[in-house]
Formats: sequence, C-alpha cells, structure tokens
Amino acid sequence: MHSAKKKIIIITAPSGSGKTSVVRHLLEQMPDKLAFSISAATRKPRGHEKDKEDYYFISADEFEKRIQNNEFVEWEMVYEGKYYGTLKSELERIWQQGKTPLLDVDVKGGVYIQQQYPNSSLSLFIEPPSIEELERRLRARGTESDNSIKYRVSKASYEMTFKDKFDEVVINEDLQKACKDAEKIIRKFLES
Ligand code: 5GP
Repeated sequence: MHSAKKKIIIITAPSGSGKTSVVRHLLEQMPDKLAFSISAATRKPRGHEKDKEDYYFISADEFEKRIQNNEFVEWEMVYEGKYYGTLKSELERIWQQGKTPLLDVDVKGGVYIQQQYPNSSLSLFIEPPSIEELERRLRARGTESDNSIKYRVSKASYEMTFKDKFDEVVINEDLQKACKDAEKIIRKFLES
C-alpha cells in the first residue's frame, strides 16, 4: 500500500503560459487522485468564473482578517491591490478526500510553499515558448485591458527568471504535449 503522506502538487508559470489548460487536463485525467486547491482571492470574478469553484472570492477586509487568524499556508499580493492565498483548511479538505491538492499559484507563492513542504511537494514550472508568444496568447484571451496586458507581460519576463527554482520545467510549445509531459511527471510522483 502507498504511504498516506499528504502530498502537494504546485503548478506555477508566468500568466498566459497555458498553465490553466494544463491544470484542467490534469484534473480531467486524474479525478480520483487530484483535486484543485481553490484559493481565496479579492479580485472580481471574470467571465464564467464561479465562487467556491474557481476561487473563494472574498473582500479585502475578510482576507486581512484571515491573515490575522493565521488561516493561510501562503498569501501574496499578486497584482496591485489584489490578494491571493491558499487556505490551510483547503488543503485539509482535499487530503480528507484522500486526494492530492493541485495548487495553481504565482512563482513566489510556489517557491514559498515548496520550502514549507520540501519532502512532500512537487513543483512544475510551465514555460511559454517566448515572451512574444505569451503576449499574443494574453491578447487572444480577450479578458484583459491593454494596460493590464502590458503589466502582465513585463511581470512575466521577471517571473521567467524563477524557473530554475522548481523541480520540473515543462515547455508549452505544443499544449497537448505539455499536458502529457506534466501528467507523466505527476503520476510518477504520486506513485513514489
Ligand atoms: P488570475 O487573476 O489570472 O486568476 O491569477 C493571477 C495569478 O495568481 C496566477 O498566476 C495564479 O496562479 C495566482 N494565484 C492564484 N491563487 C494563488 C494563491 O493562492 N497564491 C498565490 N501566491 N498565487 C495565486
């Protein structure tokens, strides 16, 4: 029998590198093994996003209260004025289901979480083929203003410098291949 060690899988990447698609693929392929770790966030829902599915959408006041109560494994002000964080209760909820939480976090959050769980976490950095391609993808997504895209692109160049800090780097040149590569790495980790 496999050990009941509480494992964590961290997926991180610059915004627009296809991370969400990879995460969706993994959850679809391994529904009995993985569960999406729903972060708390203070930004407004976009498009079809749902409260308690994509994020726990809460106010900044509520978020700050939870920081005070020490309820977060990690939290970060990822974009100007917007808090994002992983609740301890969320990881416990998933472990109690006998599954492994899959965390979609920014690079700093990823580094911090893996430092806290050095022996039980696996971190994957999804690398876009280039910054130009990443900008094209962000524009194609059509959910952001021009200013927001410029901000995200400059932030992405900085985030690329973090890639060597993670256990594995998956290049997303071809989405299907990136999904398969990530799945293979994760299956191996879960079996170990
Ligand atoms: P978005 O606003 O596009 O949904 O997410 C912005 C960024 O915040 C993404 O890089 C996403 O991975 C990151 N993020 C989401 N949840 C968390 C979290 O709990 N902690 C940290 N550090 N980053 C998060």
